[in-house]
Amino acid sequence: MLNKKSVDDINVKGKKVLVRCDFNVPLQDGKITDENRLVASLPTIKKLIADGGKVILCSHLGKPKGEPKPELSLAPVAARMSELLGQEVVFAADPEVVGPNAKAAVAAMKDGDVVLLENTRYRKEETKNGEAFSKDLASLCEVFVNDAFGTAHRAHCSNVGVTQYVDTAVVGYLMQKEIDFLGNAVNNPERPFVAILGGSKVSSKISVINNLLDKVDTLIIGGGMAYTFAKAAGFEVGKSLLEADYIDYANEMVQKAKDKGVNLLLPVDTVVAKEFNNDAPSRVVEGSMEPDEMGLDIGPKTRELYKDAVKSAKTVVWNGPMGVFEMPNFAKGTIAVAEALAEIDATTIIGGGDSAAAVNQLGFGDKMSHISTGGGASLEFLEGKELPGVAAANDK
Ligand code: AMP
Repeated sequence: MLNKKSVDDINVKGKKVLVRCDFNVPLQDGKITDENRLVASLPTIKKLIADGGKVILCSHLGKPKGEPKPELSLAPVAARMSELLGQEVVFAADPEVVGPNAKAAVAAMKDGDVVLLENTRYRKEETKNGEAFSKDLASLCEVFVNDAFGTAHRAHCSNVGVTQYVDTAVVGYLMQKEIDFLGNAVNNPERPFVAILGGSKVSSKISVINNLLDKVDTLIIGGGMAYTFAKAAGFEVGKSLLEADYIDYANEMVQKAKDKGVNLLLPVDTVVAKEFNNDAPSRVVEGSMEPDEMGLDIGPKTRELYKDAVKSAKTVVWNGPMGVFEMPNFAKGTIAVAEALAEIDATTIIGGGDSAAAVNQLGFGDKMSHISTGGGASLEFLEGKELPGVAAANDK
């Protein structure tokens, strides 16, 4: 359980409350193409409105690199949040984020009003956790709420720096839910506990593999990561993704799994093609590939093996696709895993990023127990790291 004060432990009536949300949503031509993060922020915001707080929202969006970039303005988010909340979210357009416009908007607030500040990354101090911007943000409020799980693995002004200058810093419901699901899975899982790791690189998931081998009953590996393990086992992997520097590491992990009695599952067959192209002719390979072939998905036998392996699971954590799921012809492995998770009677947790996108795109979103709003943050949590954005909140 998270030992941090939450929005349930404070009284915000008549107070100015700064809420760090994660409104970092994908935009296309000014339109929000996936609003899951906005929807996920609603419970905390509604609670603070109902309690009579003056609710000041802030977030980053994309990477404006410390200067105003109109295409990364949060204005479209203010408009959509007004609809989702059923009340006006006043957008405090302000190139300094906390400049004259923002201050005037906050000064005009009544209890229960909502204001959204401009993209916090318009300020170059934001990602450096600089003092001036941290103080600016703190000057707007009496209470700070951090509900941005997606940024919790970073120490920035708007989630960490600001807490040094306010007396009360608590977490919101989304943060609490994310940590409860991931924390319970990792530290107190109902067994069998199965982790599924995919995606492109072993190197980005080294610590996760290592940490999870201490916790899980079964570890399933797919995606581009699998070819470094295949090479380590003595197979040729052609033009597949390969991190030659991590072959020794792959061997160590295989050994660690043996020592710990963890069932480590690697692909037994692979869908290969000669080009990285959805329409490239493909074939299924067991064992070594030809020099001009590359693996783009797990094969049919592996799909069955992995589906079987999760059947009796009681807790499953999944991070990373099983193949190049963006191309329909190489999405079968990822679909099979998503289907398998949708069918079982278990706590199913999808780490953010690509696996969350895949599950939502394939229409299995509501079949999962929890889909994390944070890719990098959920990975760092699975690595066993403390998240600075969480650590900065007041203890219970
Ligand atoms: P990551 O960001 O490390 O979770 O990786 C996600 C990406 O891995 C997705 O864009 C997938 O297309 C890619 N991926 C998965 N399997 C493969 C593969 N066999 N070859 C190349 N890329 C892959």
